[in-house]
Amino acid sequence: MARKSTAFTDIDFEKQGKQTGFLHIPHSPHEDAWGVTRIPLAVIANGSGPTVILQGGCHGDEYEGPIVLGEILRDLDPSSIQGRLIILPAINVAAVEMGRRTSPVDGLNMNRTYPGDPAGTITQQISAYVTDVIYPMGDAFLDLHSGGSSLMILPSAIVEPTVDPEHHKRNVAAVLAFDAPLTVVVDNLGEARTSTATSVRAGLTTVGTEMGGGGTVSLDALKVCRQGVRNVLAHLGVLPAPEKSSASSPAGERRILKIPGPSGYVFAPTSGVFESFHPLGTMVRAGQEAGRVHHLTDPARPPEILRFGADGLLYGWRQPGRVVPGNCCFVVAVPYEGELK
Ligand code: CA
Repeated sequence: MARKSTAFTDIDFEKQGKQTGFLHIPHSPHEDAWGVTRIPLAVIANGSGPTVILQGGCHGDEYEGPIVLGEILRDLDPSSIQGRLIILPAINVAAVEMGRRTSPVDGLNMNRTYPGDPAGTITQQISAYVTDVIYPMGDAFLDLHSGGSSLMILPSAIVEPTVDPEHHKRNVAAVLAFDAPLTVVVDNLGEARTSTATSVRAGLTTVGTEMGGGGTVSLDALKVCRQGVRNVLAHLGVLPAPEKSSASSPAGERRILKIPGPSGYVFAPTSGVFESFHPLGTMVRAGQEAGRVHHLTDPARPPEILRFGADGLLYGWRQPGRVVPGNCCFVVAVPYEGELK
């Protein structure tokens, strides 16, 4: 049974050419009795070809994806593509406006709300619309994330695992086409409520990214993201194949890693101020000292030592110095040994 949404849009998804507008979701807070939440939406369509959904701003403090999608929305001429792009550069618009991971309206992390609820809070209504209306139109889905305010992550393209081998190969081929410096298989500890887990369940070819973080715009990550999105669109046949540059290594020769599960994470065991002993990109070993947590107001107390739980690459680390127990301080990625081709 179809779920009923009150969302509406001035965009005609079936029309050729370029349209920019909004998805409107009725929202009735104290300040605005009969108002709407306006989510930027663009469709660029020409000829025949796959439908690719491009999403940024799921977390409002991750900027490279939304910047690149804005560029594509403004610069891409419909005649240069074959197929249809559905572009949602600031899907979690209230969080994007505030530069926050979670929605300031309902406090939810959108990437833990899928498949959403058309009769739920505003974030749940957006994820329901994506699940019920947007995904069924798509052949492929790109979800452009960065590390956000609390994490810095090495720029990487992300594989969302799936149990179907054919689908997995299709996802891996598209992710490798992104041609990021690193490719990482991430299952978010088995989390099923993410946008990429949901797009995989919907059968779409799915590509994720993690582009820097720290609540800032990374020049390096922006460059990787800008080229990577175009690389994937060329891989899918929407854009023409790029000129081969001898400078870039072919996709597939890049390193492929995975987050191994709980052993890949180091969580703060105590409150205090966190210090890392190693820069990102360092090869580390299980049991090795990773960093420490200082007790600044109890200086006679020795800092608490943190240790890595896996052998691998130091892939991400916490940005704010202040920690409380349970904060994610380090993420280690290990070699991926699964099927790729
Ligand atoms: Ca994110």
